[in-house]
Amino acid sequence: MAKSKKKMSPALDFNTQWRYKPAPENSDHIQIQKAYDLFINNEFIPPVNADYFPTINPATGKKIADIAQAENIDIDKAVVAASKALKAWQKIGAVERGKYLFRIARLIQERAREFAVIESLDGGKPIRESKNIDIPLAAAHFFYHAGWADKLQYAFPNQTPKPVGVAAQIIPWNFPLLMAAWKIAPALATGNTVVLKPAETTPLTALKLAELIRESGLPSGVVNIVTGDGSAGAALVDHPMVNKIAFTGSTEVGKIIQRKLAGSAKKYTLELGGKGANIILEDAAIDQAVEGIINGIYFNQGHVCCAGSRLFVQESVAELVVRKLKDRMETLVVGDPLDKNTDIGAINSASQLRTIKKYIKKGIKDGAELYQSKCAIPGGKGYWCRPSLFTNVSQAHTIVQEEIFGPVLTLQTFRTLEEVLNKANNTFYGLSAGVWTDKGAKIFTMTRGLRAGVVWANTYNKFDPASPFGGYKESGIGREGGLHGLAGYLKF
Ligand code: NAP
Ligand code: MG
Repeated sequence: MAKSKKKMSPALDFNTQWRYKPAPENSDHIQIQKAYDLFINNEFIPPVNADYFPTINPATGKKIADIAQAENIDIDKAVVAASKALKAWQKIGAVERGKYLFRIARLIQERAREFAVIESLDGGKPIRESKNIDIPLAAAHFFYHAGWADKLQYAFPNQTPKPVGVAAQIIPWNFPLLMAAWKIAPALATGNTVVLKPAETTPLTALKLAELIRESGLPSGVVNIVTGDGSAGAALVDHPMVNKIAFTGSTEVGKIIQRKLAGSAKKYTLELGGKGANIILEDAAIDQAVEGIINGIYFNQGHVCCAGSRLFVQESVAELVVRKLKDRMETLVVGDPLDKNTDIGAINSASQLRTIKKYIKKGIKDGAELYQSKCAIPGGKGYWCRPSLFTNVSQAHTIVQEEIFGPVLTLQTFRTLEEVLNKANNTFYGLSAGVWTDKGAKIFTMTRGLRAGVVWANTYNKFDPASPFGGYKESGIGREGGLHGLAGYLKF
């Protein structure tokens, strides 16, 4: 007994003994204007009311730039521009449309460093992720859809699908450029035109993309980018000339949009919230599984719709997994998003940090046990949260049921596959899940039983443009990516 106790508390002081020296990414090369207007008809034009709001660097709390707040009349201008551009864009032909997409993809690759730094500055995510994941995947989405533009007859044999028309696209703050690419690339490949609204707290890379789109020579009005708060998004949804709504964001706003669209002819896809189950079976490779848990919930500060925020561990290995997980949590570096050593950057906004803190308080109040890594966090006015793990939780706990959208993990144990399938499916959400096991047969049992749009086996948070993504239940309607994603922008 005494022996195992000793094992449980290794003398690991990562912060003082093993920390690397700071390695900040150079940000001298980036160009950010003091203020950004609305991108309509390939021009930046001021909003009618001359109203601007600041976008903040969440690591410092300081303003980066002023951003135009679009009013209904500005939204109308953008939708009219997109509508007028439709005819010429369709006439241009599929091969030419593909070439524009290839050009945009290549330009993103050329500017990858600048995009990565701006993404981390504006949104707070570690530069390692912006550089290795967000920006390359954004380019990959344009490349992938460029390939489809002139091959739709093979994607949908014996059918003659037509573009839907004007697509209104509304995106969240957790993967700003990547979400813009997920939306714009398939819409253009299928011959539609676009009005995109980025999130209020992370508009900068979408506006940089607007500059790049203008440089690519894309005909004016094909892509329009309007900034503003939720009211700008609502005006887009309401606009009568919009033919399709592609929304990614919270289930709450998704429901508002769906209610509004009831009975209308507008097509829509909704990519909403999640509460992913990450399931570790006793025969899993435990060290890899622990990395998968870390990646599943602490990646991008837990600001991931498909985060593995509910951990289920088979009882016989639970003690071992918890010990290894806590050890690994102690080695995570919370800090400057621009530092290449950083694992967990800044929480995206003051309001998101308040939400996360509220849930942590609620978890403690409901009797769950909180473990937070003892890592140092930067001082100053940034928004930070240590990696957090709740044990002693049950299905009824609010922190198990509701999406926290932060680096907060809950842990439950189970004995049988049937039990864990019941627990994992006992949620309003159904976006993602992960299974860790040595046995292929168990993977198939679990993937058949899990009600989730994506199920990873022995990995987590892996994305590919060819793979459709989307939710069951309250996690959404429709799919993005792959063939399924193309269909969402076509009429048959
Ligand atoms: P959100 O509050 O729903 O906002 C999403 C977008 O909608 C933002 O651009 C927002 O503008 C806008 N918006 C707000 N109210 C609106 C309204 N009434 N009508 C139209 N648009 C409106 O979500 P969020 O907090 O930005 O993002 C986090 C959520 O997104 C999480 O729930 C996460 O799970 C989900 N998400 C899902 C996926 C997926 O693929 N399933 C991917 C990423 C994120 P403002 O920025 O001004 O509020
Ligand atoms: Mg910001």
